[in-house]
Amino acid sequence: MSESIGQVSIPSDHDGFVLLQCPLCGEFFKIKPEDYYADDVLEVWCPSCGLKSNNYFTDDVHELVGKKAMNFVEDYIYGEMKKMEKKLKGGVISLKVNNKPKHLEERPILAGVEALEIFKYPCCKREAKIKTLYKICGSYCPFCGVRYDEYR
Ligand SMILES: [Zn+2]
Ligand SMILES: [Zn+2]
Repeated sequence: MSESIGQVSIPSDHDGFVLLQCPLCGEFFKIKPEDYYADDVLEVWCPSCGLKSNNYFTDDVHELVGKKAMNFVEDYIYGEMKKMEKKLKGGVISLKVNNKPKHLEERPILAGVEALEIFKYPCCKREAKIKTLYKICGSYCPFCGVRYDEYR
């Protein structure tokens, strides 16, 4: 099967940052997609707990991907059942396929409501948006994992 189940687009805010969430500590942060996909950024560290994860998609994104997959599968099964219904028409066994399955609501991803502030990481010359608390108390550079102890 080469059919696509559709795209999930993650919008960026007016500064061009996208909202991410660390699966380990649950904290939100934002980085720019061009930094996330940059050739020299191989891994991304969570600025809050300083650990690395494979992906930082928010719960919203996971939910939407799941729903899209479900809706796709239901449509596919419905289509197959309809074909079967046609085939069996007039035969000994009759099949009546009911209405098209109702789709789960696919809510678009929001750019994020969290109050995050831009922090410049001089080590990598890149910016991230982090919670004010981490800006003051210290954070980790998402691009190289270096610890910044205090606001400077
Ligand atoms: Zn974390
Ligand atoms: Zn860095």
